[in-house]
Amino acid sequence: MPKKPRPAVVGPCYFCGEQKPLTREHVFPDWLRRVLPRLTGTSWQILTSRREVSSQPLNESKRKDNGYNIGSTQLKVVCVDCNGGWMSRLQEAAIPLLTPLINGEIHHIPVEHQVTIAQWVIMTVSMQQLTNPEPKSHIITSRERNNLRLARLGEAPMNHQGWTIGLAHFMGTTPEFIAARQQAFGYADESPRAQTSVIRLGDLCVMTWSSAYEDVAINRPAVEEHGVRIVWPDQVPLPWPPKVKVGNVAVDRLLDLLRVRFNDEELARQTGLLPDPKAPDMLWTPHPRSA
Ligand SMILES: [Zn+2]
Repeated sequence: MPKKPRPAVVGPCYFCGEQKPLTREHVFPDWLRRVLPRLTGTSWQILTSRREVSSQPLNESKRKDNGYNIGSTQLKVVCVDCNGGWMSRLQEAAIPLLTPLINGEIHHIPVEHQVTIAQWVIMTVSMQQLTNPEPKSHIITSRERNNLRLARLGEAPMNHQGWTIGLAHFMGTTPEFIAARQQAFGYADESPRAQTSVIRLGDLCVMTWSSAYEDVAINRPAVEEHGVRIVWPDQVPLPWPPKVKVGNVAVDRLLDLLRVRFNDEELARQTGLLPDPKAPDMLWTPHPRSA
């Protein structure tokens, strides 16, 4: 029996904002499963809130497998024109650039490839933030997403000055996983916000920091010491892989370095933001908000 066509869901597109029929889009694209056939296991996300400002460094035991595979998660939030247009072209352009890095091959990353990789990372992290069911943790703005859409392939997107994107060569022992942690600095809609995400794809570890708040900066010497090579906003050709490899422990250390900066007390004083006693200590994602 032929299947009945489902009625199209029309809504504001997550990237262009227009009311159009929405299509399903993978948070992490399907082609990754060809490159990473083992990408079927667990994944976890650690999501922290402003409340964490005064808490101790992350307790290892608080991590848990959140019971779904983000590698196959799809969300119905993107219009047919974005999905089949610029997003599809960006995926196609990223495949040959990311595949050798994921496979740990000796490589050279010219500047124009780094810009395309940065565009792909911003798109992917934008999708990934929707897997957190807490809307207040959605840090990446509609303006940032729309500017990404308007940028040409390999051309710097406008208004992404607040982004820093780094790559590291991962040599860990854990099973395949995609890890992420996002942080909100401030809970009010207009308050300064920042997010950090770490995505592990095979031998590649992608790290991002972004904030619309100019005083929130990463501790670059510290992260570079740990083997992270900045591909955005830097414009320098990179030999690959870096001599320093990143393991499980170093990834944790990097996340903590970033957190220390975000939780800076002086910054809290300047912005007048105080911990919200009603916010939970730790937000978990039991399931992605699937439309
Ligand atoms: Zn769209």
